[in-house]
Amino acid sequence: MPTIHLEIITAERRVFADDVDIVVAPGMEGQLGILPRHAPLMTALQPGEIMYRKNGEPTYLAVTGGFMEVMGDRVTILADAAERSDEIDEARALAAVERAKQQLSRRDSYLQLQEASVAMRRAQARLHVAQRRRSRTTGMGPGSGGAPGGGAGH
Ligand code: ATP
Repeated sequence: MPTIHLEIITAERRVFADDVDIVVAPGMEGQLGILPRHAPLMTALQPGEIMYRKNGEPTYLAVTGGFMEVMGDRVTILADAAERSDEIDEARALAAVERAKQQLSRRDSYLQLQEASVAMRRAQARLHVAQRRRSRTTGMGPGSGGAPGGGAGH
């Protein structure tokens, strides 16, 4: 079966590299599913979850934005920041949500509100990915009640 070589890198490190069956990433206009032999593509990403499936098993990572290039059998994600579920500090993400909520409740400038809203989405993406990991070990969480492996996003 043909596969895709997925590489997720940030300015600081290589977060992930492996051959996978499908990649779903948060494009600016919604979730983008990439299968082998996808047409070449270059797109910006928004904060959200990256899902890849390997041997039928879905895995999720958090991404805060960046770019994705699809070229031949390679998908390269150049991320602002990206974390695997086991790297996510949930307490930190919860604190970031609280901070963003407080900022959003103030009557700040449009720019500050925009920044708080994006910070909120970054933190929520991290929390979703961390919760998916927990749901796999406890059977509870965002993935529970759905089909095995959940879906590509929300
Ligand atoms: P915070 O306000 O908690 O710093 P942030 O959204 O402003 O969060 P980023 O600027 O997106 O953070 O990321 C800065 C660095 O910190 C990156 O290397 C990112 O991977 C890491 N990071 C941010 N939040 C978390 C988290 N909850 N768990 C693990 N790593 C995180």
